[in-house]
Amino acid sequence: MTIKLDPWGAAIPENYARVMEEFGISPFENLLQDIPDPHPLMKRRIIFGHRDFERVLNAIKRGENFAVMTGLMPSGKMHLGHKLVIDQLIWYQGHKSDIFLCVADLEAYSARGISLEQSRKFAVEEYLANYHALGLNLDRCHIYFQSTNDAVRQLAFLLSKRVNFSEMKAIYGFAGESSISQIFYPMIDIADILHPQLKEFGGPRPTVVPVGIDQDPHLRLARDVASRFQKEFNFILPSSTYHRLLPGLTGEKMSSSRPETAIFLTDSDEEVEKKIRNAFTGGLPTAAEQRRRGGDPTKCRVYELYVYHLLPDDEKLLEVNELCRSGKMICGECKTKAIELMKDYLKEHRVKYRRALPKVRKIVEKV
Ligand code: SF4
Repeated sequence: MTIKLDPWGAAIPENYARVMEEFGISPFENLLQDIPDPHPLMKRRIIFGHRDFERVLNAIKRGENFAVMTGLMPSGKMHLGHKLVIDQLIWYQGHKSDIFLCVADLEAYSARGISLEQSRKFAVEEYLANYHALGLNLDRCHIYFQSTNDAVRQLAFLLSKRVNFSEMKAIYGFAGESSISQIFYPMIDIADILHPQLKEFGGPRPTVVPVGIDQDPHLRLARDVASRFQKEFNFILPSSTYHRLLPGLTGEKMSSSRPETAIFLTDSDEEVEKKIRNAFTGGLPTAAEQRRRGGDPTKCRVYELYVYHLLPDDEKLLEVNELCRSGKMICGECKTKAIELMKDYLKEHRVKYRRALPKVRKIVEKV
C-alpha cells in the first residue's frame, strides 16, 4: 500500500521505517558518530532521518558556511512540538550557518484564511518572541514575511514554469475544488527553500531544512525542481532532516487548534496541571496492578515530555524509565514530577519572553 504524507493533515505516520523506505530517506543514526557535538534530539533518535545531510556535515566539520531554512505558519499558539525546530536552529546557530526564517503569512491566508495583519501579530507575539526567549538570536537570522519578499515570489513564478498540474495533484492530492492559491502555494514554499542559494542571498551552498516527516512532500518537490534549474541557478540540492512528530497529550497529533493535545509556551500553571493530569499514559488500570507489573513508557505521552523536553540528562531519563517499568513509580507520582518540571521551565520562560517581546517588535519593524 502506498503511504501518503499530508503536510496539512492530522495523521501521524504509524511506521517511520516504512515511510523512510518508501520515500528513500536515510537513517540519521548512521551519521551520528561523525557529528562532533550531536544535539540531544539527534542522540535520542528524535531526529531519525535525512536526505544528503552529509553535505551540511562536511561544511560543519570544515567550518564552512551553509544555510538553514525554516518557516513558521502564524496561525495559532506556539506549542512544544514547534519548539523542536527551534532547539535545532539554536544548535545550527552555534555553527557557521545563515539561518533563514520565513513567516508563512501567505500560507496562513491560503490555508486558514488569516489576514496578513493578523499573521504579523501572531508571528511576533506567539512565535518570534518565544524563539528569542528560547535562545535563538534573531539579530543573526534572516527573517522575512512571504507577502513582502519580492525575490521569493518572483522565484516561485519562474520555477513554476517547469512544474505541471498533474505533478502537483500526484504530490498534494489537489482536486477540482482546490483554490488556485492552494495549488500555487507549494511553489512559494519551494522558492523559500531555494532562495538562500540565489546570488543576492549568498549563492549556491549546502542548505538544510529541518522538518517533521509530514513536510517531506515539499522537500521532494524542492529537490526535483532544483535539479530542473541547474543550468540557470546552479542550485545544490537542499538537504533535510526529519524529526518524529511530538505526539499529542491525548494520543492524537499535537495541534494548536485542540488545546488539550498540547502544552503551549504561554500556558498557565493551572492549564499545565490539568493537561498533564489528563494525559494518556502507559500505566495500568489500578495502582496495585501497576506496582506489581510496571508501566510501559513507550506508550506514554508523559514520558515523551521527559524525552523531548524535560530531562535532557540521559541518566535522569533512564531513572524515570526504570522506575516506571519496575512499578516503583506509578503514574500519579510521575505526573506530579512532570508537572513540577514543566511549571518551573515555563516560569523561567515567561520572564525571558517578557524581556524578548519589545526587542523582537523592534527587529520585525525593520523587516
Ligand atoms: Fe508514563 Fe510515568 Fe506512568 Fe510510566 S509511570 S506510564 S512514564 S506516567
